[in-house]
Amino acid sequence: MPTTATAAILREVNEPLTLEEVQVSDPAEGEVLVKMVGAGICHTDATGIDGTIPLPLPSVLGHEGSGIVEAVGEGVTDLAPGDHVVLTFGHCGDCKYCSRDRPAYCEMFAPLNYFGTRMDGTVTMSQGDEDVHGCFFSQSSFSTYAIALATNAIKVDKDLPLELLGPLGCGIQTGSGTVLNALNPQQGDSIAIFGMGGVGLSGVMGAKLAGCEQIIAVDINDERLALARSLGATHTFNAKEHKDLVWDIMGVAAPGVDFALDAVGTNEVIRQALEVTRSPARIATVGFQGLQHDITIDQGHLLLGRELCGVIEGDANPKDFIPALTRHYADGEFPFDKLIKTYKFSEINEAFEAAHNGSVVKPVIVFD
Ligand SMILES: [Zn+2]
Ligand SMILES: [Zn+2]
Repeated sequence: MPTTATAAILREVNEPLTLEEVQVSDPAEGEVLVKMVGAGICHTDATGIDGTIPLPLPSVLGHEGSGIVEAVGEGVTDLAPGDHVVLTFGHCGDCKYCSRDRPAYCEMFAPLNYFGTRMDGTVTMSQGDEDVHGCFFSQSSFSTYAIALATNAIKVDKDLPLELLGPLGCGIQTGSGTVLNALNPQQGDSIAIFGMGGVGLSGVMGAKLAGCEQIIAVDINDERLALARSLGATHTFNAKEHKDLVWDIMGVAAPGVDFALDAVGTNEVIRQALEVTRSPARIATVGFQGLQHDITIDQGHLLLGRELCGVIEGDANPKDFIPALTRHYADGEFPFDKLIKTYKFSEINEAFEAAHNGSVVKPVIVFD
């Protein structure tokens, strides 16, 4: 029997989401039905609304869900009704890079996260005879009930504040994972992080966990920089107030930082992230500015042992990484809840506006 749910539906690009009744199918083989408790809003949802990533419509967004397993499909043995789960990105679990614990590079990443249907073409949500595309990031968690894969539903301890945990599935995993998994600084190293959105601020928390001695945060918003400082940044720079930003950063971190993280994605910021590093160094770019986006860099500068890499989803294996982040949170070493402001489901469009205008770092929808 399908489950009746309320979902936030995107009917047209650049239109507000509308809360409508949908039928959510029973979990198929390898799937779980989750009663949603919370869902974070991430930049990728906004790129779905504005058409930057093309989605089949009508569609249900939401890819940082947290909730309680209601039912499990055939073949699901590691989850049971009542389990608390954080929903992360969809991955197949057995391709080349899934097998190497790097599911962010799953060969099936696009179909499992963007195509709006199961791999067999069926939909998980409907309204009468009309299909509603409900497989966004193998979850579509802007709904009171959602279908996820057992592989992207990560079990977490029941004594944690479940309604706040969703962002660990994407934005917070991306920032902290890029530092801890892809850059992997050692105790005492230095890092510069550009862009203090949810990803960059999570990078700051990751750098603190790694024991970085100098954590340099860059943004154009003083409130964000103050938040970065409260999370572990040792130096902050407002890029608007520093005409010679690279020079000024080098002034506190000569002969340059060991690592840099670009959470903006513009050519200017990627160049700055490269230029503030010493030799050798590793620089990660995670900001998304559209699929075709040419940049220019100085090859002579790169040549001196500098590596520039792109990173998806923090190159994390969520099955281990999300529970690890929750343990750091419980120990008081990873206060990601400082980024969050909660909203009711009926306020979802206001929550998107707050993310868009920058007044809130990480809006999280809390379902009744
Ligand atoms: Zn895979
Ligand atoms: Zn995301």
